[in-house]
Amino acid sequence: MAVLLCSTSESVNDWAEALRCLSGIDLRVWPDAGDLTEIDYAIVAHPPLGVLPSLPNLKAVQSLWAGIEHITRDKDLDPTVPILRMIDPGLTGGMTEYVTMHAQRYHMLAHEFDLQQQQGTWQPRTPPLASERKVGVLGLGVLGSDAAQRMADLGFQVHGWSRRAKTLDGVTCHHGDDGLFDLLEQVEILICLLPRTPETENLIDRTTLNAMPEGACIINAGRGELIVDEDLIAALDSGHIAGATLDVFREEPLPADHPYWTHPRVTVTPHIASVTRISTALPVVEQNLKRLMSGEKAEDLPGLVDRKAGY
Ligand code: NAP
Repeated sequence: MAVLLCSTSESVNDWAEALRCLSGIDLRVWPDAGDLTEIDYAIVAHPPLGVLPSLPNLKAVQSLWAGIEHITRDKDLDPTVPILRMIDPGLTGGMTEYVTMHAQRYHMLAHEFDLQQQQGTWQPRTPPLASERKVGVLGLGVLGSDAAQRMADLGFQVHGWSRRAKTLDGVTCHHGDDGLFDLLEQVEILICLLPRTPETENLIDRTTLNAMPEGACIINAGRGELIVDEDLIAALDSGHIAGATLDVFREEPLPADHPYWTHPRVTVTPHIASVTRISTALPVVEQNLKRLMSGEKAEDLPGLVDRKAGY
C-alpha cells in the first residue's frame, strides 16, 4: 500500500522515521510523492492546498491532529474521501491534564490571589470545596468526556453539553440550545472543548457570557473561533468574568498587540493544551494501516469524521 506523509509541521522528519519502521507500506514523503496515481492513503498535518486533491486514487486521509480544519480548508478535496482524525490516549490524557490543572487553579482562587500579590494586598478568602463547585464542559466528545469524568472523579459537580443527548457517569448531561443555557446559568468554571463548526463559531458571546454567574471563569482549548474576543474582553473588564485561560486563538501566533497578552485576568498558552506525541499516536496510525491493508473500510475505523457535521 502506498502511503504519502504530507506534513508542514516541524515533526515531519520524526514521523517519516517512525513510519519507515512499519512493515508492508511503501512510504513516500511529500514533496517526493512519486506517481500520484499510486497513493492509497495520506497521513497529514496541515498539507499544502492542492496536494490531497491531486491524488486521484486516495482512499482515506489520516489526520495527525484531532482537529480537521487543516484538511477541510482545501475546498478541492473530494467530499467523499473519508477523513480519520487523531484519537490517541496521549492526546486525550494531555488535554485532561491541561484543563483539570487550569480549572483547579480557578477553583482554588489562584487567579484572585495572583492579582492580590501584584497589588501587595492580603485579603484571605476561603475557596469552596470541590463538591460545592459546579463546572461545565462544552463538548462531550473524546476530549470533553474524559475531562468531564476526571473533574467528576476529583469531586466537582460536573455538567456537560453536547449536540446530541448523552449519558456519562458522574456528569449531568445537557444538549441543544436550551441545554446550553441550563448549563451556563449554573457553572462557575467553564471548559470549552468544542470543535469549530458553523454552529459553534461565536458561541461564547455577550449573551452566553451574561448567562453565566458573576465571577465565573473560562478555559478555552477548543478553537479560537468559539469566542467573540471583544465580548470576552468586555466581560473581563467589567469583572463579570473573573478569569480566562486561552490556548487557541482566531489568529495564531496571537498577534503581539492583542489585548489578551497583557490583560491581568487572562492566561495565554501557545496552543499546547494537547499535542500529538509520536509515542502514543504511532500505534494508532499503525493499527489503522493494518486494518486498511487487511481490507477493512476507512469508514469502519476510529475517528471517522462526519463531513456534514464538520467534526
Ligand atoms: P469530538 O470527539 O469530535 O467531540 C466533539 C464534541 O463537540 C461532541 O461531544 C459534539 O457533540 C460536540 N459538539 C459539536 N458541535 C456541537 C454543537 N453544535 N452543539 C453542541 N455540541 C457540539 O472532538 P474531540 O476529540 O473531543 O476534540 C474537540 C476539539 O478540541 C477538536 O475539534 C479541536 O478543535 C480541539 N483540540 C484542541 C487541542 C489543543 O491543543 N488546544 C488539541 C486537540 C483538540 P456530539 O457528542 O453530540 O457529537
